[in-house]
Amino acid sequence: MWGNESYRKSFPKKAQKSKGTLRGEGPRGKKKTKRTPIPENVKKKALMRSGRYCQYCRKDLLRNRLMPTFHHIDGNASNHHLNNIIVLCPDCHNKADRGVITKEQLIYKLRSSPRPMVGPNMDEINKLLFGW
Ligand SMILES: [Zn+2]
Repeated sequence: MWGNESYRKSFPKKAQKSKGTLRGEGPRGKKKTKRTPIPENVKKKALMRSGRYCQYCRKDLLRNRLMPTFHHIDGNASNHHLNNIIVLCPDCHNKADRGVITKEQLIYKLRSSPRPMVGPNMDEINKLLFGW
């Protein structure tokens, strides 16, 4: 159908593409889940549980003045359940993001990491969360 073809061509392609900008559709494209910030009380609980250590390599974050990172084990950036959050040093977080450290390894570490006798106090937690 000749007529139909020229009719369609008269509409430039970009006209149908502009759907507005949706959050989470950035150039990285891979992660489509909307990232919501982890509630502060969850971060604090996670830090209490980790006892200021990286829960993977056991590095002392406080002593090394490292900002703790909160990694979503299942990869869902909106699942802020405490059991889905593991406290990692920036090194380990990087590895976890790249898949060098697997989800299974993280879960294992989280389950096997010893509960601290004394967790960090509020002052230490604030330092970890907001810097020095
Ligand atoms: Zn680490």
